[in-house]
Amino acid sequence: MGSKGRAIVGLDVDKLLIVLNKAYADEWLAYYQYWLGAKVIRGPMKDAVAAELSVHATEELAHATLVAERIIQLGGTPLVDPQEWFSWGNCGYEAPADPFVRKLLEQNIRGEQCAIGVYDDLMKLSAGKDPITYNIALRILEQEVEHEEDLQALLEDLELMLNPPQH
Ligand code: FE
Ligand code: FE
Ligand code: MG
Repeated sequence: MGSKGRAIVGLDVDKLLIVLNKAYADEWLAYYQYWLGAKVIRGPMKDAVAAELSVHATEELAHATLVAERIIQLGGTPLVDPQEWFSWGNCGYEAPADPFVRKLLEQNIRGEQCAIGVYDDLMKLSAGKDPITYNIALRILEQEVEHEEDLQALLEDLELMLNPPQH
């Protein structure tokens, strides 16, 4: 990495690299949870929900790319073994073992809420100390907030379809 680029970071870079690698693990697990969910989904509105899950999978992978590139820029190494994703991740992995639409939406909403917390924390950690990491965290946080809202809106549509209000 560039030595001046590392020197301007007003944080303990080794500690920052750990935080970034934890987020990196989360992004891969989120990617797979969405990617597989989009394939196995069953139940009402499955086509609309599968389309959203597929888009989110692609966006989670893009987050992994952003985080990996920053890790490398800072002289670190993205986790080299997928086996590390479970022990490093903050947000865990909820297997889409029950592929009903509502269950998948609820699982992925929990994942997004965890991700929002992770990037909010990273923004607080990097504010005024590392503008590049801060900017990456902001870009990702914007998308995680959008993801949560997309899924909650789909869940609301599902509830209205299953239990239409009586007029
Ligand atoms: Fe993400
Ligand atoms: Fe997300
Ligand atoms: Mg979306």
